[in-house]
This record gives sequence, C-alpha cells and structure tokens, in this order.
Amino acid sequence: MSAGQVPIVVLKEGTSETKGNQAQRNNITAAKTIAEIVRTSLGPRGMDKMLVDTLGDVTITNDGATILKEIDVQHPAAKMMVEISKATDNEVGDGTTSTVVLAGALLEKAEELITKNVHPTVVVEGFKKASQKAIETLREIAIKVDPQDRQFLNKVARTSMASKIVSSNAQELSDIVVDAVLAVADKAGDNRYRVDVDNIKVEKKAGGSIQDTKLVHGIILDKEVVHGGMPKRVENARIALINAPLEIEKTEFDAKINISSPDQMQKFIDEENRMLKSMVDKITSSGANVVLCQKGIDDIAQHYLAKAGVLAVRRVKESDMYKLSKATGARMVTNLDELSEGDLGFAKLVEERKVETDKWVFVEECKNPKSVSILVRGGSQRVVDEAERSVHDAIMAVKDVVEYPHVLVGGGAPEALASLKLREWASTLSGRSQLAAEKFADGIETIPIVLAENAGMDPLDTQVQLRSKNSSTGRARYGIDVVNGKVADLAAKDIYEPLAVKEQVINAATEAACMILRIDDVIAASKSKSDMPGKGHGPSGMDGGGMGDM
Ligand code: ADP
Ligand code: MG
Repeated sequence: MSAGQVPIVVLKEGTSETKGNQAQRNNITAAKTIAEIVRTSLGPRGMDKMLVDTLGDVTITNDGATILKEIDVQHPAAKMMVEISKATDNEVGDGTTSTVVLAGALLEKAEELITKNVHPTVVVEGFKKASQKAIETLREIAIKVDPQDRQFLNKVARTSMASKIVSSNAQELSDIVVDAVLAVADKAGDNRYRVDVDNIKVEKKAGGSIQDTKLVHGIILDKEVVHGGMPKRVENARIALINAPLEIEKTEFDAKINISSPDQMQKFIDEENRMLKSMVDKITSSGANVVLCQKGIDDIAQHYLAKAGVLAVRRVKESDMYKLSKATGARMVTNLDELSEGDLGFAKLVEERKVETDKWVFVEECKNPKSVSILVRGGSQRVVDEAERSVHDAIMAVKDVVEYPHVLVGGGAPEALASLKLREWASTLSGRSQLAAEKFADGIETIPIVLAENAGMDPLDTQVQLRSKNSSTGRARYGIDVVNGKVADLAAKDIYEPLAVKEQVINAATEAACMILRIDDVIAASKSKSDMPGKGHGPSGMDGGGMGDM
C-alpha cells in the first residue's frame, strides 16, 4: 500500500479471504481428504473404521454416512462432502461411501484439467453433461424386475449387506428384510408400490447371535408389564392407548391438610382409592383388556387393573404410541371420560417375553398388518449397532427396488461399462468439453478400481481387464469378484444393486464436485479472537491459504 493512500475497510478485521486458484486448490484438497478416509471401506473387502468420540465411546462401522457423521469435520468443502453422504442416506439409504469416493475422484480429475488451464466452468459444464450421459447408459443396461420378485429382492438385500460385518449372516437377514419390506408395501397403481419405511421398526438388543434376529408382525415395546398380578399374555387384545397419567395429580403448590382423627385419614385414603378405581372402571367398561399408557400408572390403579385381568404397560414412548395407534387402529385418548369401545385397537396377541435379561411386550398381528418390527440380535452392543445399520441399508435398498424396479449388476460392472461408453461419446465432442467428458469417464471408473484395490488386486491390471472384457461383450456384467480377487461375471454371482442407488450416487457426487469447483473465493469471518491461529489463516487448519492477492 503506497503512502498517503487511505485503506478502505470492506471486510471486518480478522476476516480471511482466499481467492482464485488457491481457493479452489484448498477446497479440492479438503474434499479429497474426506474421500480418502472412506475410500478403504468401500465394498465387501473394505476395512471398517473405529471411531472414538470425545467421551471415549467407540463405534465400529463400514457405513460411509456413519463414518462421516461421527468425525468432526472443520473445512467447509469437507462439510459439503459430509452433507452429500447424508443426503444419499436420506434419499436411497445405500451408496453413501460410493458417493463420497466418486465425488473425490471427480475432483481429482478436475484438478488435473484446472492445472492445465482449463477453466472450471468448462469442467463443470462438461461434468454435468457427462453425468446425464452416464445415467442414460445405466438406464439402458438396467434390468427390469418384478417388484414382488422375492428372489431378486433377496439378491439386492444380500449385496447391500455383503460389505458389512453381518455378511456371513446375509442370507437369513435378507429373508427378514425382504419379508418386512413386502409386508409394508402399499399398492400405488398398476404393479407400482410405495414403501413407508417408518412402518418397519428396527429394535436391537445385544445378546444371542445375529442368527437370532427376528421379524415380528407387529410392534415391540421395550417395557415390561407393570404389575406382577397382571396376565402376561392376552389373546384377541382390545387395546386402549392412553396418554394421560393413571395417577392422582399432585398439586403444584404445597398444601397442608390438618387431620385431627384417624377417621379423617382413612377417608382421605378412601377418596384417593375411589378416584383411581373410577379411572380403572372407565377403562374396563370400554371393554379394554390391554392398556398402553404413555404416562405413569399408580400402584393402586395397577392393583385394580390386575384384578380386572387387564395387561398394562406404562411410560410407552410417544413415537411408539403413534406407531401403535396406526398398527392397532386405536385412538389415543387423553380424557378417560371420552374413552369408549370405538377408541380401542386390536391385536391378535399381546405378550410379555424375555429378551436377554429384560422383559419386553410384543403386540402382534395387529388390525393393520402393515406394521412390522425387526428385532436385531448380536453378540455385543457394537455388533448389534452395526447390524442395525446394515439392516437399515438393506431395507432401503429393497425399498428402492420395490418402488423403482430396475437393478444393475454390482461390483463396479456398470461403472466400468458407463466409463467405456462415456469415452466413446467423448470422442464425438470437440475441444475442451471432450477433455472434461474423458475425465468424468476416468472418475467413474474409480469405483471398480477402488473395489479392486480394497480386495488386494492390482489396479492397473484390473483396469485393463475390465476395459477389454466389457468392451468385447458390451454388457455390464464384468466387475470385481472381490472374493476370488479377479475380474469376473458378477451376474453369475447374484450381485445386484438398485438402479435408484446408482443414479443417486452419480447425481449427488457430480453436484457436490461441481459446487466445489465453482467456488473461487472463500471469505471466512474471523472466529472469536482467542481461537484465531494468526492473521491470514482461515478458520480451519486445512486451509493453508493466506490473504490471497488483496
Ligand atoms: P456404499 O456405502 O457405497 O454402499 P459399500 O461398502 O456398501 O458402499 O460397497 C458397495 C459396493 O460394493 C458396490 O459397488 C457393490 O456393487 C459392491 N459389492 C457388494 N457386494 C459385492 C460382491 N460380493 N462382490 C463385488 N462387489 C460387491
Ligand atoms: Mg452399501
């Protein structure tokens, strides 16, 4: 700044700005770092991650979305990568690792072009067109299936679980998952279905083994029957759902009652008894023989309920109350005076059963059969946690196929073929868009290459073989046989994945990569003074840029 010039303060003091090339490089590096983290966990031979939080709690997982959720990411571009894995988890439930790996690969390829002075907007345009082309190709090679075809759905569920700890039990679990999804599938037109996964409740309990995982046609409550004198099993249950306390409410302020004789004391107690008895009478006169209460139940009310042969559970979770209402057809009642026979729900069986050391209540064969639970079991807490996540992925993958009945062969085969087709298509383009399309083709080929690397195969040999096998057949079947460590026909191995997942992976990864590429200016407000590492540094350690060329 030359002498005499008055500095114009535009940005607040402490704000850092990184511009142009430098900003892009930093962002790309941050995003690639995230992709590097999950890269080794892709596929059946991928490794698991052990995540330790600040409290020392340990999570062991192979699920991309979970890994990224648990780690504390600072850099804004890295955060975008975390967000796309979340978005993919919400949209299709599987493919989270692939999305992040692909986005990282696309950015790496883009960086090569930017270094050669190709303008980022040209890369972005090229990537967008190429991603559409890739999706067209996948749609062409996808196999249309019958959404009720258990055999195919089973293969999809098994493929989804193949990459997880539960893989050795994938066969049994996939039967359960397919049964659950088909049980809640609603017909939405001619051979079209909708699946509301909220109707599948996944409960977990450490103990036993994964093989003990069960499908329950109904709802499981992790609560016990409240009183020892009550029946533990009620057939043809008429269920009252009550969200008011079956207790005498205490006054909010301290009240003093002067009792001068034992008679008065007795009267007082009698009155309380009478009130509780009348509550129970209102319930029993509705015809209910099961009471599921969201609030507490007084000892005396329990006694009267037990005497009337009613099975009661207290402090049922609010979310479970909604599910119970949907499943049994009961109306939730707040005012007992309003309770009538019409409010009751129905289930063939309500029974308390022992699950490990706990007693849980099972509400089975409800009025609305479109409500099921999966009780996940496994040797330890960490195993059931990961099994639950894998079951979730598999449920979503099966749902994807039931709703959009198209599948692709897995193991990187469709990506390998798509990249071949993209290269052919790129050769029809001219100039720099051709370069961008070719780089996109390289990016998408990363998926099979990473699968191969994780299986201990040589990436270069694999690439050569994939290209020659798939181009000679023109069909997307040749992918990475991770078990035998070679390029093989994966259709023969029953590895199938939903087209919906692959489309989402490509869309989300392209979107994230393009968004990051279009940023040429990072303006970061200063954090509080105390945690500023020094002038010229952004809020994160990864951002090595200075004040740019201000
Ligand atoms: P994501 O979070 O992306 O679903 P996964 O770790 O589940 O990541 O790995 C998915 C990839 O593994 C897919 O490309 C899928 O085709 C592949 N895959 C799954 N099972 C097999 C298998 N038995 N052989 C080869 N590849 C498989
Ligand atoms: Mg998966």
